[in-house]
Amino acid sequence: MHTCRNCNQSFRTELALEIHRDSCEAGQLLCQECGDQFRERDATEDGWHYRCPNDDCDGEGLKEDLIDVRSVRTATH
Ligand SMILES: [Zn+2]
Ligand SMILES: [Zn+2]
Repeated sequence: MHTCRNCNQSFRTELALEIHRDSCEAGQLLCQECGDQFRERDATEDGWHYRCPNDDCDGEGLKEDLIDVRSVRTATH
C-alpha cells in the first residue's frame, strides 16, 4: 500500500500514487520559513495575496516564502 503523506489517501501501486501527487490538493504549497505543506486555498483568501496559514510563521508571497511543490519537482528532476 502506498499512502500520500499529504492527504492520507492510499493507492495500490506506486505509479498511482505518483499520478495522484501531481494533482493532490492537500500539499500544493510549501512554506520555506517553517517547512509546512498546505493547500493553496488555505494560504490565500483572494487568490492574490498568499501567506502561511500558521499563526506563528510570517512566511508570505507566492514564489517567495511559499513555493508550489509541483513546479519545484519538475524543475529539479
Ligand atoms: Zn494526496
Ligand atoms: Zn510557514
